[in-house]
Amino acid sequence: MVKEEKECLFCKIVKGEIPSKKVYEDDNFIGILDVNPKSEGHTLIIPKKHFRNVLDMPVTLGNELLDAIKKVSLDLINQGKAEGFNVCINNEAVAGQEVFHAHFHVVPRKKGDGLRLSL
Ligand code: AMP
Repeated sequence: MVKEEKECLFCKIVKGEIPSKKVYEDDNFIGILDVNPKSEGHTLIIPKKHFRNVLDMPVTLGNELLDAIKKVSLDLINQGKAEGFNVCINNEAVAGQEVFHAHFHVVPRKKGDGLRLSL
């Protein structure tokens, strides 16, 4: 195991060594609530295996990833926490990546929420 992976925050969360609020799980991904949410229900979809960012992820995970994004987002809508949502992936520090284990932000949006996330 390389150093980056050994010390990886999200690998520790996947293994249950660091607590998290898990809202979703399938064979290859978990969904956890972000500790510093942009809005209520802000969820991170995280591959269980360590990949630095999206470039390292095999395309074979694509279907399951899309399924996870859809299920998490629909749950947020059904719970009344979202009318719409942004999906965001930060790749490398220059693009805002702080945790170097690939993850996909699902940020619930509501009319008039004042967030400025759209490109
Ligand atoms: P990024 O800037 O795309 O790397 O996003 C990293 C995200 O991880 C930020 O939104 C943080 O608030 C979130 N985060 C950091 N530590 C934790 C943690 N222990 N549990 C849940 N989310 C976390």
